[in-house]
Amino acid sequence: MALPVVAIVGRPNVGKSSLFNRILGRRRAIVEPEPGVTRDVVEAEAEWAGVRFRLADTGGLFPPSPADELAGAVARKAEAAVAEAAVVLFVVDAQVGLTGADELVADRLRRLCRAVVLVANKADSERARHAAAEFARLGFGEAFAVSALHGLGVGELLDEVARRLAESGSGGIEGGEPAGSPPRVAVVGR
Ligand code: GDP
Repeated sequence: MALPVVAIVGRPNVGKSSLFNRILGRRRAIVEPEPGVTRDVVEAEAEWAGVRFRLADTGGLFPPSPADELAGAVARKAEAAVAEAAVVLFVVDAQVGLTGADELVADRLRRLCRAVVLVANKADSERARHAAAEFARLGFGEAFAVSALHGLGVGELLDEVARRLAESGSGGIEGGEPAGSPPRVAVVGR
């Protein structure tokens, strides 16, 4: 059974590929570029908390300006990746703050996908982490403040991704159980 796709979207320069690499690097996932997949959507297999998924860096801003054909082609591929995604990581920049381009991406996402996790990247400092609160205005709940550069907050973000995948029954549970089987819950403590 095909693994569920977790797609990373957002306007350029918010740190999508940095987050992609951070997620893969910290789990030592095997990066296997898909043959036939152009470099504007990069995919690799990843795993967190026993849940396996395919991570896709869409690399594209959408919607593009109508005049820019290349951006249009990238945007269509990004849209296709989003449409098949089980979870979308919508990345914004906590240092720059909310921009018009973020609002445009948000509009498209509202139409394309319901399972959106908002990620305020570049929250390297306490100040930037606080500033991330303003992104709640986008309507996707509180942002997960992370720093792809330093690895801060990425574990919490992946816990949420794994939780959503397990909840939707689309996570490839480690150990060969078919996707869709009930999530296993461990209760630990003294
Ligand atoms: P993309 O265009 O959205 O894929 O963004 P990139 O991953 O290429 O990153 C754009 C720029 O932001 C690069 O210069 C990165 O080094 C920088 N960057 C990415 N993540 C962080 C972060 O967590 N903190 C800071 N300070 N810079 C970051």
